[in-house]
Amino acid sequence: MKFNTSLLHGKSTKSYADHSTLPPIAQVSAFGYESAQEQEKVFQHKAFGYAYTRIGNPTLTAFEQRISDIEHATGGVACSSGMAAVTISLLNVLTTGDEIITTSNLYGGTLDLFKDLEKFGIKTNFVSELNPEQLDKYFNEKTKVIFGEVVSNPALQVLDIETVARYAHERSIPLIVDATTVTPYVIRPIDHGADIVVHSSSKYINGSGNSISGIILDGGRFKWDFEKFPALADFKRYGNMAYLVRLKTDLWENFGSCLAPFNAYLNVIGLETMGLRVEQINKNAKALAKALSEIDGVKVSHLSLEDHPYYELCQKQLGGYGGGILTFRVGSKEKAYKTLNALKYVTIASNIGDVRTLAIHPRSTLYIKSSDEEAAAAGVYDDTIRVSVGIEDSEDLIEDFRQAIKQSQN
Ligand SMILES: *Cc1c(COP(=O)(O)O)cnc(C)c1O
Repeated sequence: MKFNTSLLHGKSTKSYADHSTLPPIAQVSAFGYESAQEQEKVFQHKAFGYAYTRIGNPTLTAFEQRISDIEHATGGVACSSGMAAVTISLLNVLTTGDEIITTSNLYGGTLDLFKDLEKFGIKTNFVSELNPEQLDKYFNEKTKVIFGEVVSNPALQVLDIETVARYAHERSIPLIVDATTVTPYVIRPIDHGADIVVHSSSKYINGSGNSISGIILDGGRFKWDFEKFPALADFKRYGNMAYLVRLKTDLWENFGSCLAPFNAYLNVIGLETMGLRVEQINKNAKALAKALSEIDGVKVSHLSLEDHPYYELCQKQLGGYGGGILTFRVGSKEKAYKTLNALKYVTIASNIGDVRTLAIHPRSTLYIKSSDEEAAAAGVYDDTIRVSVGIEDSEDLIEDFRQAIKQSQN
């Protein structure tokens, strides 16, 4: 079965109650039982069933299974947001005194999270690119996780998953990746060696910008050393499944990270058209990047442009899919604001992965908490505009940006 067929007819798309073609929405807090004995069995995991939505819900299970299959994972946990997913994917294996290695060009929210974790005694070391040479500078016995974005938002740095996974595994630590910007249509990080995959499913998976959510997927292959990872020691009997079992029955449940059932349902609907959307978005972004790069005084960054530093790796690892995010610089903050304000179709909004094209001035919004150095490391300057390309006709998009930039230059 090829990708788009599997989204609709894969093994986890069937067997809903009453032959429903989509998973029914169990919009409830609790599940009622005929007898106390029956409920006891469910609580002791001796019988299959649901008790309380924070601990499990069939609509969430449906979404988790569908995306697990698509990502070639052994299981997944659906969260209330992408940030909830990033947070507990890390805390599931970390304790005070542990260290993380990551890059300085991550999504702004994740950079903020690493500052929060410092107050809990978890230190993050930042490199400009995840490669063996730079990792060697910080790797030590306290390093427990390497974290990276497959394509960083908005710096568009591509992670060499195979190389970094090999480096991590040789040192008995997992590679956790945020694959939000690429989607499983472009790459399944688990097939390339990543151990844990996180998505902000608010973005390309949902696709219509109608609900916030996240998902954590476990490849199920990492061999946990329970002395090195005391956080997982109580789950030793689950072997390779220890991460997923602890996540599901411990952190996810106790942190109250569950997704609303209705939002899980909306994500399943979104998932079914993901292939079509991502294909169109990639085509549009490539056409727009080329058109913008031909305008005097405009500097464009997109992975489809041959002058991009990660062009080769994008061709090799991502099949040439440059993705839906591009940034361009117009010379000054004033011109950036003028451009944004002159756009006719394009909406000024802070989301990505929507069907509609969105644009934002990231320095004054998403990176407002960052210093100039931190923002620059993430590829964000005073005159940068970030675009999340949608599924409109590319001719209309190109025309809209052309006229807006022209107005800003007057
Ligand atoms: C949006 C985003 C997040 C955070 O997700 P939310 O659903 O907004 O909490 C994390 N990582 C990346 C790469 C994102 O784009």
